Amino acid sequence: MALELMPTLTYGSSLTDEPPRPRWQPFKRGFAGRCPACGEGRIYGKYLKVAESCSSCGEELHHHRADDAPPYFTIVIVGHVIGALLLMSEERWPDAPVWIPLSAGLVLAIGMSLTLLPRVKGALIGWQWALRMHGFGGTPATSKLADAI
Ligand SMILES: [Zn+2]
Repeated sequence: MALELMPTLTYGSSLTDEPPRPRWQPFKRGFAGRCPACGEGRIYGKYLKVAESCSSCGEELHHHRADDAPPYFTIVIVGHVIGALLLMSEERWPDAPVWIPLSAGLVLAIGMSLTLLPRVKGALIGWQWALRMHGFGGTPATSKLADAI
């Protein structure tokens, strides 16, 4: 009897009555540092400091919970690129002094990390907005779940 009252959830479904949002457009807008809702306003007030709301459409952006995910994904991407380049340089120039590829790899890793980190964070915020996570629109799932029971 209780199973009949439980709402069915599938991936991408929502307990809200609002229509689903597109997924990739907010992801790409966030990657570009733009508001996931309108694509016009800037998502950051400073380098990694997310603005309270969009300066163009007023969408509240403080709901995001990117937390440790942006550095994690940035490390995964940069680590794979730098690791591959170091192995390729060893194949290409086997007699080169070791400090040359390590120094170049260090500079490239720092540059890539500083470039990618705000973009990855913006993309994750856009993804959270698209899925209406953490207060990005819709009625809180807990109250809808309570209404359904
Ligand atoms: Zn906006």
